[in-house]
Amino acid sequence: MKVTARSAGQSNTGPVRTYLTMSKKKYVDTSVTDSVLEKLKKAQDEEKSPNAYYKFKAWLHYANLKSWQGQQWHFAYVNYCGEEMRCTCGLAVPIKNKSDMKPEVLEKLGVLNLDLVQKSTGHRQLPTFKGQVAAFIYDYTHVGGLGMYNYHCLCQQCGEYLQGQSSSDAITWCKFHNQVCAS
Ligand SMILES: [Zn+2]
Ligand SMILES: [Zn+2]
Repeated sequence: MKVTARSAGQSNTGPVRTYLTMSKKKYVDTSVTDSVLEKLKKAQDEEKSPNAYYKFKAWLHYANLKSWQGQQWHFAYVNYCGEEMRCTCGLAVPIKNKSDMKPEVLEKLGVLNLDLVQKSTGHRQLPTFKGQVAAFIYDYTHVGGLGMYNYHCLCQQCGEYLQGQSSSDAITWCKFHNQVCAS
């Protein structure tokens, strides 16, 4: 079944078209190393002036980013200089851009209130930054007061989405769509 679905996908989008689509994408390095976090933490601890607050904010920004990448959550985490929106995976989309998803998919996902990067294709896999994904986690919600989360995922190829999953179920669902829907 997997082979059939893959072959069907390949006949729709040939390798040349995929390459052209990819070549138009811009990526920035959003990877956060442990040493960067340690450096920022140290700078915060050593800063005794009122600036300590800003050092804390700098550390928090990168600590959050790393945690979101670990959850494999893709969203526009930063608006860069009012020029482009940047995803946690590094995909950078000019603010003037429109969605480049298929119109029928955009319509299916219209109820989800997605941000600009979530409506743009070319996301890199998290947390490895290798390869591209069409299915990913776009949001999550807290469940009760137990520090539990429900994850919501979508597929930019077929327009399906699934809400309220455990982390592992959401990741499995995305893996399936990335194999079957994206060639
Ligand atoms: Zn992304
Ligand atoms: Zn799909």
